[in-house]
Amino acid sequence: MIKAARISEKVNGIRIDITIKNNTNHVFAPTWNMVLDYKNAKITWAQYDEMYFKLMAERAKTRSAEIDAIARMAIEQDVYFICFCTDDRVCHRRLACEIIEKRIKELQPVKQHPGLCPFKDNELNAENCEQCYLGVGCTRAVQNSIKQDRNPSLF
Ligand SMILES: [Zn+2]
Repeated sequence: MIKAARISEKVNGIRIDITIKNNTNHVFAPTWNMVLDYKNAKITWAQYDEMYFKLMAERAKTRSAEIDAIARMAIEQDVYFICFCTDDRVCHRRLACEIIEKRIKELQPVKQHPGLCPFKDNELNAENCEQCYLGVGCTRAVQNSIKQDRNPSLF
């Protein structure tokens, strides 16, 4: 899981310091200009939030491997984005978590139909049905196309 914590907090997981001060070149570090403008009240949190997501979208064009490496790590274990701010709600570490959470969803394929198997009279849980196991994102349209391809007498 990806989580956020203060720099002084003890955490049970991998710590990634994403402050511009300690980790200047980190893909999730903000820019000094943004940080200072926010601290000096030249921009609002809403503006900072928007600037951060724009900056991250720009960086993702060339540094997606770094983002994906963190997402993959967070699939396996608890990873904490660390910053100095006292409040998660107004800290880029929370925004960085949102980006990683989104990426984790994209990286983890839906392997089974949720719920009951549509091919076996809804008796078998889809997780236990090999016909339901597609290994890719599975939609109702895909289910229907498979249903048509198969001999109905098999079910
Ligand atoms: Zn912060």
